[in-house]
Amino acid sequence: MVIYCVGIDLGGTTIKAGIVDEDYRIVKSGAVPTVTDRGAQGLVGDMKELVSSLLEETGISMEEIASVGLGVPGTANKKTGVMEYANNLNMKDEPLIPLLKRYFKKPVSFTNDANAAAWGEYLAGCGKGYASMVMVTLGTGIGGGMILDGKLYEGCNFAAGEFGHFVIQYDGEICNCGRRGCFETYASATGLRRMALKAMKEEEGRRSLLWSLCGQDEDKVDGQKIFEAARRGDLTAESVVERYLYYLSVGITDIINIFQPEVLCIGGGVSRAKDQLLEPLKRLVDQQVYTRDSAVKTEIVIASLGNDAGIIGAAMLDD
Ligand SMILES: [Zn+2]
Repeated sequence: MVIYCVGIDLGGTTIKAGIVDEDYRIVKSGAVPTVTDRGAQGLVGDMKELVSSLLEETGISMEEIASVGLGVPGTANKKTGVMEYANNLNMKDEPLIPLLKRYFKKPVSFTNDANAAAWGEYLAGCGKGYASMVMVTLGTGIGGGMILDGKLYEGCNFAAGEFGHFVIQYDGEICNCGRRGCFETYASATGLRRMALKAMKEEEGRRSLLWSLCGQDEDKVDGQKIFEAARRGDLTAESVVERYLYYLSVGITDIINIFQPEVLCIGGGVSRAKDQLLEPLKRLVDQQVYTRDSAVKTEIVIASLGNDAGIIGAAMLDD
């Protein structure tokens, strides 16, 4: 009998779930909107229905499911099974795991969504076959996860891997964590956008291609358009991207200096810029990293699984 695992990725706008086989392949996946106003009961009810429909569509029975794993956008206390704090969902202290166990009658485990994605990339994506990997996700904020000696490292309070919140600029831009100059305020998609909007309003920036790419509507400026304008030789966008990459390289170098992982994997929306991001980033890190003369060096790569990483990682969590 083939054994499957279920992975659920609880996000701010959708709940995604997938049935994953022993080779870390998603056999079937689906999604429903995240509705939080009925609390944990409502969320678990929606997860239940989503998984049931996937089982029905594939003809896989509940007996063939070995375990269920969940990634949550908040702190996942593995000891209690409670999602302690989920800023995005505006939820606090929700007993998701006891409720899921009651329904599935299977081993259920969970972790933070960034950890789930890192674990998925480690097992089935760009970290496959390595002993250590750090993943850094460049989205609205910066998240991440780390796998050290084959194990997901979560810290004593399950809050490790907050790579967005070490300071790279003393007394810099205010961060939503309350400190100033955090890596996230410069190297997230939000940081990139802030730098672009500022540059667009300066004298040279008023003639920038970015204005026509966004139809004169600054709300429509995003990472993709900024990289596109730079690719097309727009001087304003080029200088913004250059500054952004420098900030990014400072933080990534710090992370490599601390962990020296075999692989450092970059994910999130900004990573869609692919080589336009990766090649200059590698050069900048090479100039700064402590181990620049070392024979063995961290390989920097772009994440390969996209949104599937969170489902696969959640499905394959250890208890
Ligand atoms: Zn911060």
